[in-house]
Amino acid sequence: MGVELTQETLDLMRELTEANGIPGQEKNVTRILKRNYQGLCDSVIYDNLGSIYAVKRSKADDPFRVMVAAHCDEVGLMVRAIRPNGLIQAIPVGGVWELQLLSQRVRLETSDGRVYMGAVVSNSSKLMSQLQQESVLQNSFCDFGFTSEQEARDAGVMEGDMISMQCQFTVMNGGKRLLAKAWDDRYGCILGVEALRELRDCELPFDLYIGADVQEEVGLRGSNTAAAMIEPDLAIVLDCTAANDVSGYVSPTGGLGEGVMVRFMDKTYVPNRTMQLDYLKLLRKNGIKYQWHQALGGTDAGVINLSRSGVPVLTLCICARGVHSSSLVIDSDDYMCARSALVAFIKSLDRDKLELYRNNNR
Ligand SMILES: [Zn+2]
Repeated sequence: MGVELTQETLDLMRELTEANGIPGQEKNVTRILKRNYQGLCDSVIYDNLGSIYAVKRSKADDPFRVMVAAHCDEVGLMVRAIRPNGLIQAIPVGGVWELQLLSQRVRLETSDGRVYMGAVVSNSSKLMSQLQQESVLQNSFCDFGFTSEQEARDAGVMEGDMISMQCQFTVMNGGKRLLAKAWDDRYGCILGVEALRELRDCELPFDLYIGADVQEEVGLRGSNTAAAMIEPDLAIVLDCTAANDVSGYVSPTGGLGEGVMVRFMDKTYVPNRTMQLDYLKLLRKNGIKYQWHQALGGTDAGVINLSRSGVPVLTLCICARGVHSSSLVIDSDDYMCARSALVAFIKSLDRDKLELYRNNNR
């Protein structure tokens, strides 16, 4: 595509990828989203777990409802216990790969909003057996500089507090690649805001709900409650999936720069084939680069497509290297492909299309 990212997009990417939100504690992220949605929609709504949606109402009579769902949580850690020497023992929340935690910079946020910066520390590897070196979380601790349990407690630290991995948003290779934490799934959060901006003056034949679910990383939980609130007729799920290309790219496993992913299967969902083929036609017509993809995990699509009496759901993903670590790399052309694809697909939807998709397997 070769279209350059604007400073406005880069600023939004920096703000949202550097925000911290483990499952169940996503407020830092959703507050940024709320501020960005305002002025681009008619209202901003929440479900009772914290999932947030911008609502863009249609002027049509009896409009149907389209849900565009990202997720706002990221994998991270939680305070499990405070040791007598002031070190914090942490437990993973979501699928954290333990080995990559070694020497990681981390940030602790207490329930009253105090913030402490630190690192994951362990004894020197010379003092550890091979086995100890591999079970990182049992032999490593988060060090925020507290010298006793009391000092940590006086600082407001308690069990269940959020500990997030840290990574500064970094533009690499002149903007070709972008390094950050939490591209999974701030990618989708950013894309949602940008789609709203592009659709600002667009009159649609359906009510559009664009937002982000909470608690995806602990088992697709927020999408249950968000779908119950919205009752969508059709949905698009935006997520960032794992690239599998560090030793070369072979379709359909996910490669950076190979375009937006067309997912034909994952663990929790098979797509509505009629909708998917329609989407594929649109990608080809608009010259948007795409790659076939079979994902090993799942997304909120797995939940949303089983809500109500069944909802046609399209997944609109890009891939990243280092998913579920603190250092994720995406390709900026993939992002631009996804943005063009999302806006074009939303604009292509109408009631006839919805009926066509509903008849997919009848
Ligand atoms: Zn995700």
